[in-house]
Amino acid sequence: MSEAGIVILGAGQGGFQAAASLRDCGYAGRLVLVGDEPGLPYQRPPLSKAYMKSEAGIEQIELRAGAFYADHRIELVNARATAIDRPGQRLLLEDGTALPYAHLILATGARNRPLPVPGHDLAGVYYLRTLADADALKGKLAVARRVVVIGAGFIGLEFAAVARALGHEVTVLEGAGRVLARAVSPEMSAFFAHAHAAMGTKLVLGAGVVGLEGEGGHVTGVATGDGTVHPADFVLVGIGVVPNVELAAAAGLEVANGIVVDAHLATMDPAISALGDAVAYPSRFAAKDGTTHVRLESVQNAADQARSLAHRLTGRVSPFDAVPWFWSDQADLKLQMVGLAAATDSAVLRGDPASRRFSVFRFRDGVLTAIESVNRPADHMLGRRLLAGTPAITPAQAADESFELKSLLAK
Ligand SMILES: Cc1cc2nc3c(=O)[nH]c(=O)nc-3n(C[C@H](O)[C@H](O)[C@H](O)COP(=O)(O)OP(=O)(O)OC[C@H]3O[C@@H](n4cnc5c(N)ncnc54)[C@H](O)[C@@H]3O)c2cc1C
Repeated sequence: MSEAGIVILGAGQGGFQAAASLRDCGYAGRLVLVGDEPGLPYQRPPLSKAYMKSEAGIEQIELRAGAFYADHRIELVNARATAIDRPGQRLLLEDGTALPYAHLILATGARNRPLPVPGHDLAGVYYLRTLADADALKGKLAVARRVVVIGAGFIGLEFAAVARALGHEVTVLEGAGRVLARAVSPEMSAFFAHAHAAMGTKLVLGAGVVGLEGEGGHVTGVATGDGTVHPADFVLVGIGVVPNVELAAAAGLEVANGIVVDAHLATMDPAISALGDAVAYPSRFAAKDGTTHVRLESVQNAADQARSLAHRLTGRVSPFDAVPWFWSDQADLKLQMVGLAAATDSAVLRGDPASRRFSVFRFRDGVLTAIESVNRPADHMLGRRLLAGTPAITPAQAADESFELKSLLAK
């Protein structure tokens, strides 16, 4: 009978970090990391950035080289898990193996939201979540000329910037009235819309996609509700993700836009915890409009939750309370966000967008909730420190560039 140690399901950013941090924290028992993607665990952010531009290869994006796993006695199992046997404390794999666990960590991440229109299954329609997706797209970028990107979120816009830099004709179709609508202020959306137009990308807002057209089984265009067909040699769909919660739900764990966990990342089963993109957790940064839980999709969230959980499982118990932050690189623009703003939070500009170095400070009832910065890392780093406590900055101070933000930090 094999030892029942800690089993981690999902060998992505969060699953990897949980394994590495457990060893850092002194966990000495059996440690198994199960993932269904081939190869070693890798970082996803470069897939739409340096890796897509061929500025980084596979070795640069792998989280660690193969020797790390042997050195740290982390058993990597490449398989798909099909069920959680909670009474028996076993994770069942597709080949019939049952992995016993003393504790199970669910780090199953998210998958692409499929495009729900006719023609979605034509050849030449791509998504971008995995290394395999990125390799398929890179192959296409080497030959095709006209790409239509559906969705002006981070992945769509990052890919659009790369495709334009490579000389492709790029059209971005966005159903909402502004780009990055779920993530940033209207002011920041306007800046990025302008920046992409200046790169030569055709950006169409309020463009509801109604179908994909094709010839011989291959996509040739994207039809929008106004009757326009946007010609395409290939299409990238970037319309968000859905959390991988099915195994948790089938095992009777609570699921509501993510696997529901408490402030310690524990599910309702004391032998199962969860983290990363798949998880809804209680956060003091939630929008306070009745919502208490948030589900975040970022490296920081997955990695910080993994570290927090490793501490708990090795006896250092404290609730997860990290300040959320995120970044996105689009051409020469580095966007960094810290905190979580609600759509209705006010926006105060610090610096001039025309200089391509500015920040937008978000406030709710006069209290700072988030900072969005373009090419201004000092504002972002300061925001992380401010938001970790109770930020005492006023909108007038945020707007006044002569006001020293550092003076707000506790001495
Ligand atoms: C192209 C791209 C660019 C991004 N850029 C940024 C960025 O700039 N900044 C940022 O902060 N974040 C970025 N992100 C988001 C970030 O990568 C994710 O938030 C992060 O990877 C989440 O980690 P995770 O461990 O929760 O999930 P994942 O990294 O998705 O890992 C989950 C793993 O679990 C596996 N799995 C799921 N179910 C099973 C099963 N039943 N059996 C076996 N294996 C299973 C999945 O296949 C996957 O490998 C980007 C994501 C993408 C796709």
